[in-house]
Amino acid sequence: ARAQIGVTGLAVMGRNLARNFARHGYTVAVHNRSYGKTQSLMEEAGDEGDFVPSESMADFVASLERPRKVVIMVKAGAATDAVIDELLPLLEDGDIVVDAGNAHFPDTIRREEALSARGLHFVGTGVSGGEEGALLGPSIMPGGTRESYESLGPILEAVSAKVDGTPCCTYVGPNGAGHFVKMVHNGIEYADMQLIAEAYDLLRAGLGASAAEIGEIFAAWNEGDLESFLIEITADVLRHVDAETGQAFVDIVLDQAEQKGTGRWTVQNGLDLGVPITGIAEATFARALSGGVPQREAGRRALPANAEPLQVADRDAFVEDVRQALYASKVVAYSQGFDQIAAASAEHGWDIDRGAMARIWRGGCIIRARFLNRITEAYERDPQLPLLLSDEYFTDAVGNGLSAWRRVVARAASAGIPAPAFSSSLAYYDGVRAERLPAALIQAQRDFFGAHTYRRTDREGTFHTLWSGDRSEQEA
Ligand code: NDP
Repeated sequence: ARAQIGVTGLAVMGRNLARNFARHGYTVAVHNRSYGKTQSLMEEAGDEGDFVPSESMADFVASLERPRKVVIMVKAGAATDAVIDELLPLLEDGDIVVDAGNAHFPDTIRREEALSARGLHFVGTGVSGGEEGALLGPSIMPGGTRESYESLGPILEAVSAKVDGTPCCTYVGPNGAGHFVKMVHNGIEYADMQLIAEAYDLLRAGLGASAAEIGEIFAAWNEGDLESFLIEITADVLRHVDAETGQAFVDIVLDQAEQKGTGRWTVQNGLDLGVPITGIAEATFARALSGGVPQREAGRRALPANAEPLQVADRDAFVEDVRQALYASKVVAYSQGFDQIAAASAEHGWDIDRGAMARIWRGGCIIRARFLNRITEAYERDPQLPLLLSDEYFTDAVGNGLSAWRRVVARAASAGIPAPAFSSSLAYYDGVRAERLPAALIQAQRDFFGAHTYRRTDREGTFHTLWSGDRSEQEA
């Protein structure tokens, strides 16, 4: 036994992660259900480092130093359970099983419980950055026991992305915490992408700019506060021309967005926890709307616009308004996502450090961005910050763009350009800062039809009004 770490599941992600370990000097045991993938890894990349290939799971496990560290990188769901079942009889006390696939966090909680009962460590870890990240340095979000992180952490930190010399990997929290945080990362990614798409639409349908011109605008935005991987690739995509037709590439892509489910999980969890993650929800629903072919067909035929085309006197000023609206909406989406992390952390006793999460998302992952530094700083100023938006940096940043944000949402509505994430983010902003909300009326209605009771602004207690009687008030 001489391998320091093993990877089973050698499709694009596992193969690249194994190469990443090897390139960092680790001896890596490699295994895949069907041997072909193991062979092709050895043929194509075997000279990149020290690999120990095995055809059987038993040989694979036997090739690992104790305590064994086995990274599972297979299709999330039943495949992960199948691999764990195969591994279990081969492992011994203190061995560490790492699930680096995109598991849903309740599955991770279940698996961790089962494996810890067998004396094993189970580390559900989020890995973001796609194929390229896995090879060159992803953002890694490991959960599990602190004890497991002592031996596993240094290896994961070594292969993770680095920003200013700091690894984009840190211990997240017990059992499902790592996969939970990865899920919210993906939810935020949905929101970020939708906001960018809305900004593009306003410039395209509103301003009438060409895809290539908007590509230049995004490239310029990438020099400022908005600097991020997603803005950068958007500029690239918009400047790309389809070789076959000579048209802008974005124009020949079918406008029906697909999804694999992490956005949906994030929204479902937001509903369970009662945390308004409206940016992520709008983004997820916008994808669903785009894919609703019969509904769109019927809508296109039946629904009039009654809209006024945008009259833009000063193009540069409008572009700047859209930039500010995008930044402000983005801050709202992140603020909501971090609220969700705080709520889940409290619910499950995970004790997640939100500033550290923003730090490990600065590199490697899809939402890597300059402004994540600002989020880390905000949580360093106040680790218990109840609302990221209320941190002084963000109140200023959003406050400066507030008029622009309102103008953009109003003009989108007048022009009939859908901007669900822009407008719901602004509504959230106005809701969360309101002195008084019409929730008072909701409570009164609930008491009227269902005797659900209400509390008063002027004294303690719970009350019910006899709506169908003499309308006197009773203390409930
Ligand atoms: P896939 O999700 O396409 O999974 C293919 C791998 O799973 C193959 O190695 C396959 O083995 C194995 N597998 C499937 N069913 C079983 C089973 N019943 N028993 C044993 N092995 C099985 O691979 P990816 O590399 O794309 O992704 C791996 C994991 O990483 C997934 O959980 C994914 O969600 C996650 N992930 C993916 C990212 C990406 O960008 N692709 C980014 C971040 C995370 P065989 O070759 O024998 O069929």
